[in-house]
Amino acid sequence: MAEKKTGTLERDASRRVALVTGGSRGIGRATALRLAADGFDVAIVYAGNAERAAGVVDELAQAGATAKAYQCDVASSDQVKATVKQVLDDFGSVWALVNNAGVTRDGLMARMKDEDFDRVIDVNLKGAFNMARALTRTFMRQRGGRIVNLSSVVGIMGNAGQVNYSASKAGLIGLTKSVARELAPRNVTCNAVAPGFVETDMTAGLSDSTRKDYESQIPLGKMCAPEDIAAAIAFLVSDQASLITGVVLPVDGGMAM
Ligand code: NAP
Repeated sequence: MAEKKTGTLERDASRRVALVTGGSRGIGRATALRLAADGFDVAIVYAGNAERAAGVVDELAQAGATAKAYQCDVASSDQVKATVKQVLDDFGSVWALVNNAGVTRDGLMARMKDEDFDRVIDVNLKGAFNMARALTRTFMRQRGGRIVNLSSVVGIMGNAGQVNYSASKAGLIGLTKSVARELAPRNVTCNAVAPGFVETDMTAGLSDSTRKDYESQIPLGKMCAPEDIAAAIAFLVSDQASLITGVVLPVDGGMAM
């Protein structure tokens, strides 16, 4: 029988809470479902696709989790503050934050518009900062917690046509290590996962020739599934990873080694 724990949602007090940004699709959806299977209740944040988000909430409920979706632009510190407050009011606590929301605005540098550079940095990098900052007091007060940031192989290797995106993903590596150092005294870990090429909406538009070119650069010879990335995230938020902080874990078929 579900029992109420400080928040307004009826939920099992023995389950921890995860907040997954970009949880309505792709890697975020797979992560939310994996964490639900691992015993988490889950709050997902999405940008605008309410129907997809509602579908994931239904899937999470079917998996036995208490779940709710929140529309929020992670690039907006005001929206993030209000959303985190609402999540804490609803769920009572947050143990794991997965900063997964991300966008691309690809193009060669010579033709890249200011707004395409700024938007990618604002969502991918500042969004993770906004969420981590909004939850810092919660993590410090409970003297424990987990943050996982979604970087990318291109944050390590670079990629022509993605100066904005790769800069945001490289920036997340510095943010991860600094947050790890800042919050370690309170027993909070912060790590990054760096996926290679993953079958999601983000890569669905790649041409066959680009896809073949990318696949030829992967020693293990195939693209990742969202569930491969979710498994690494699930490990990093688990009790087994309590002494791992400040690392960047590639899940890329060997692409970035
Ligand atoms: P995706 O399928 O394109 O999904 C993006 C998710 O982010 C959606 O849930 C979207 O919400 C949400 N989102 C976008 N902008 C947002 C904003 N401003 N505020 C809040 N939520 C926002 O992406 P994905 O391929 O699963 O990628 C997930 C993460 O992994 C990203 O950070 C990406 O950079 C990283 N990554 C992906 C790959 C890859 O090959 N796919 C490789 C390396 C790293 P809506 O549904 O409402 O639009």
